[in-house]
Parts: sequence; C-alpha cells; structure tokens
Amino acid sequence: METLAVHGGERWPGPEGSVVFPIYQSTVYSIDPGTGYHDIPYLRLSSTPSQRYLHDKLASLEGAEAAIATASGMAAVSSVLLSIMRAGDHLLAGDALYGGTHDFLTGHAEELGWSYSFVDVHRPETWAAARTPRTKLFLAETITNPLVRVGMLDEIAAFGRREGIVTVIDNTFATPVNFRPLAAGFDLCFHSATKYLGGHSDLVAGAVMGNADLIGQVRRTLNHYGGSLDPHAGFLLARGIKTLALRVRAHNENATALAGFLAGHPQVAEVYYPGLASHPDHAHAGALLSGFGGMLSLRPRGGEAAAQAVLDSVRLAYPAVSLGGVETLITRPAITTHAGMKPADRERLGITDDLLRVSCGIEGQPDLIADFGQALDGLQP
Ligand SMILES: *Cc1c(COP(=O)(O)O)cnc(C)c1O
Repeated sequence: METLAVHGGERWPGPEGSVVFPIYQSTVYSIDPGTGYHDIPYLRLSSTPSQRYLHDKLASLEGAEAAIATASGMAAVSSVLLSIMRAGDHLLAGDALYGGTHDFLTGHAEELGWSYSFVDVHRPETWAAARTPRTKLFLAETITNPLVRVGMLDEIAAFGRREGIVTVIDNTFATPVNFRPLAAGFDLCFHSATKYLGGHSDLVAGAVMGNADLIGQVRRTLNHYGGSLDPHAGFLLARGIKTLALRVRAHNENATALAGFLAGHPQVAEVYYPGLASHPDHAHAGALLSGFGGMLSLRPRGGEAAAQAVLDSVRLAYPAVSLGGVETLITRPAITTHAGMKPADRERLGITDDLLRVSCGIEGQPDLIADFGQALDGLQP
C-alpha cells in the first residue's frame, strides 16, 4: 500500500520530465476529427490529462480496473445510484447510512420511481425476505457512523453474486489501507475523498472504483449531471493520497490507543471501537479489516452535560464535523451530523444526546491521551 500510494498511476517520466504530475487547468483541447462526445477532452467530461492521471491513481489504490473522480462524495453516491437504478427498481441499503446518503434516498427515491428497504447488515437471513424481483442494488458501508459497526461484508458480496444484485460499498471510513472491497467481491466502491484520501481537511471530492464497464456507466451519468472534479482539487487529492498509507497507519494506532485509554477511564461509561474486544463486531471485523480505522465514539458518565463539558474542554481536538484529516476532531452527532434525523430513529440507532464521536488525527499519542484525560478528569466532582 505504501508503494502504491506513492507510485500508483504515476507517469514515468511525467510531462516535460516532471516528477509531480502538473495541474492541466485548460478547459478545452484540440480534438481529432471523429472523437465521440464522451471522449472529447473537456473538464466536465472528466477526460483531460490531470483527470486521467488521477483516475489511474484512484483505480490502483483499490485494485480496480477503472475509477472516476467526482466533485464530492455525494456526487459519487448519487452518480452510482443514478447509473444503475431505473424507475421501478428497488434497492437494499444498510439501516445506518451516512446522513447525506440517507437523505438522498428518503428525499429523492420516490420522485425517481425507486423503492428501497433498509436492512440490518448483520443479519443475512433478513435480506432475501426484503428483496423483490426488481432489486437491482445493495448499498452498504464498511464502517458505519457514528457507532462504527462493521456488517457481514463477505455475505453481502456473496448475496449479490448469487442473486444478480450489484453490490456497492462506501469505503470512506476504512480506506483501501484497511479494507479492499473489490477484492472482497463488491462490484463498486466509492469514497468521500474529502475525508481520508485527501486527508488534510482542505478539499471536497469523491471517487468511484470498479470494473471498466460499470465505471463507464457512472462516467456517462456524471457527464450528463455535471459533477466532475476540478483539476486543482484533483491535484490536492493526488498529493494527499501519496501519504495515505502512512497517515492511516497513524490514525489506526492513535484510535486504538485512545480507545484503550478511554475504556479504562472511570468517567467513561461506554467506548465504541471495532478494535476493542468489547465491540460487538470485533471478531468478524478483525477477520475482514487490516486495521480498525481512526473513528471511535464514547459516552462519558454524566449524560448530555458531561458530553458537552468534554467537548468544551479538549484542547487538541477541534469541535467540528467531518473526519479523516490529520487533526483530531470531536462532535456530538445528535446535535450535528444526525440532527436532521427523527429523534425516534436516532434512539433506535443508539445515537443518544450524550454520544461523542472522535476522528483521531495523527498527533503524538501521549498528547492526544493527555488531552482527553484532562477533559475527563475535569468531570470528577
Ligand atoms: C462525508 C461522507 C460522505 C459525503 O461526502 P462529501 O464529500 O461530503 O459529499 C459520504 N459517505 C461518508 C461515509 C462520509 O463520511
């Protein structure tokens, strides 16, 4: 992975001998007579030199035949769904989807003529009952937000193969360093590259990876709906990817250490991290993943007020949404990322008012632990 992240997709030598692939900011290019519409080099058509370079880099990361970069993670998931689903079709989706994906489905499926069923990704026996003759697609996430659950991913891929259903996975939380969905049998995987792939909280982008035929379909949809990625953001993304393997290893180690520390702290009631033996998915997550990721959540003792006090008193961790950057971020999902959800749904998913979600950065482990330690110690009467 370390070598792939640096060298995957790189030109050797680069244009004019450059070691770093340059930003081709040109919107248009001279074209050869007879070039088909989708192959005209034009920024919106994702066919210009900087974009083609980035696609090769993204594909190599996930071991895919092809990839396409998109203007955001939401542009990635919407393009995938719009490429595969037709009016009258049905899809199965994990019941703890990322908020934006959840809202896209609940807000737009009906007008597009799609139906959907939310399923428990831990209970394969329920999937066949939920499928219909028009089920086209199964949408899952490698690690869910914010309780970091890991579904029966092998079974989802196998179910799709057996039933002729396209399996799609959002691999944002795991990154290809911790999980390789295509090797595990998924048809398509996508990312909010805004998070770990970019890694520095300074760009918005998405990516879809899969075989050439499916990516060709996604690219046509993207061309028509207009969600291509600007070359400057693409440059930042390629630059971020070069350190992905190093960063994710540091995120994994910091989250593991912080989760262990929190689990032993008297002011902490509950810690959720798949790397902890106490996590309900620990055993199968260990078999599926090569690292447990940088995301964890916790409930301090003392309810909502205590959670807010911890958030207010950490000094290294920024109180902010989003994730996957080099700096540690902390948020209360009930009033931020999941505030739009109905209280009953939040309750059912375990997103209580006292829950804190942490995106562990790559700071020094003792500093990170000391920061959370002082914030939690401050809760003691
Ligand atoms: C952030 C995120 C998205 C959406 O990505 P944007 O880049 O914000 O459009 C999708 N899935 C997951 C898991 C995310 O964390």
